Amino acid sequence: LQVLKEKEEIRNAVKNARLAGKTVGLVPTMGYLHEGHLSLVRKSASGCGITIVSIFVNPTQFGPMEDLSKYPRDLTRDLELLANTGADIVYFPKKDSMYRDGFSTWVNENDISKGLCGKTRRHHFRGVLTIVAKLFNIVQPDVAYFGQKDYQQAILIVNMAEELDFSVKIEICPIIREQDGLAMSSRNAYLNPSERKEAVIFNRTLRFVENEFISGKDSVEDLTMIGSVYFHDNSSTAKLEYLEIKDAETLENLKVIDEYPAVVLIAGKIGKTRLIDNLILKKSDQPVFTLMDEMEQTGKTVTDNFQG
Ligand code: AMP
Repeated sequence: LQVLKEKEEIRNAVKNARLAGKTVGLVPTMGYLHEGHLSLVRKSASGCGITIVSIFVNPTQFGPMEDLSKYPRDLTRDLELLANTGADIVYFPKKDSMYRDGFSTWVNENDISKGLCGKTRRHHFRGVLTIVAKLFNIVQPDVAYFGQKDYQQAILIVNMAEELDFSVKIEICPIIREQDGLAMSSRNAYLNPSERKEAVIFNRTLRFVENEFISGKDSVEDLTMIGSVYFHDNSSTAKLEYLEIKDAETLENLKVIDEYPAVVLIAGKIGKTRLIDNLILKKSDQPVFTLMDEMEQTGKTVTDNFQG
C-alpha cells in the first residue's frame, strides 16, 4: 500500500496503471474508516485493476459551527485496515494542495442540494461537489464508489457526473449497519454509551415507516406524520431534524407512494452528534430497486441493490 500526497504522484501512478492495462477505481473518504468504507474498497478492488482511496477531511463541507476540528482521525489505523482490504494507493493530500489561498471556484447545485440536509448545512453540498469534482479531475477514475448512507450526496454526485460530463461510472453501494441497525458512521465514535443505545431510534423509525407502508398506508403526509410521532414517543434525548419521503430517483416531493420507488430519509441529533439514515420503500412484489435504470443505459451509473 502506497501513501501519496502530491497530485503529480497520483497522476503518475494512474498513468502507469493505465499503461499496464488496469482500470482505476476511486473511493473518496474522510478517513476514520469503518466497515461501510471498507465495503466500498472491497467493491472497487474486486472490479478494478487498481484501487485508490482518498482520505481528506474536507474543510469546505463543514459549517462554521460544525465538527471540523474534532472530526475523528487515525491514519495509522486507516492504513492498516486498507492494507488488509485490497486498496493499492492512499491519496492523502494536504489542505493547501486542495485549496490555495483565495480559492474561489465552486461546484454549486441549485435544486436538490437546497432541501433535506441542505436546509441546515448551507454550504455543505457545495463543498462536497467541489472536492469530488477535484478528485475526479486529479485521479480520473473509471469507476468511483459512494455509499447509499449519504443518499442526497449520492444523487447529487450522480447528477453532477451526468450534467458536467465527467467520464466516470458512479457506483452506489448499500448501507452497512451495526447489529442493532444503526448505520455505520465515523461520527458514531462521538456517542457515549447511553447515546449509542438511543441512536438506534433513527433506523427504528425508518423501519416503522416501512412497516406502515407495507401494511397499506401510502400517503406521504400520513407516513411522515406517524413516523415523527413514533420518533418522539420512543426517544428521550434524540432530536429529529427531518423525516421526509421523496422520489428515490429524483428526490422530488411525492404525495402518494404509488409509483415505485420512494425513499424515506431521516436526520437528527443525539447530544451534539448529528446522524442520518435512509431506507428505500418498496412493495414486496416489486423488484429490487436499481438506481436510475435510464442512467445505466447511458453508461453513467452502475448500481446494484440500492437499498439499506
Ligand atoms: P465519509 O468518510 O463519511 O465521507 O464517507 C465516505 C464514503 O463512505 C461515502 O461515499 C459514504 O456514503 C460511504 N459510507 C459512509 N458510511 C457508510 C455505511 N455505513 N455504509 C456504506 N457506505 C458508507
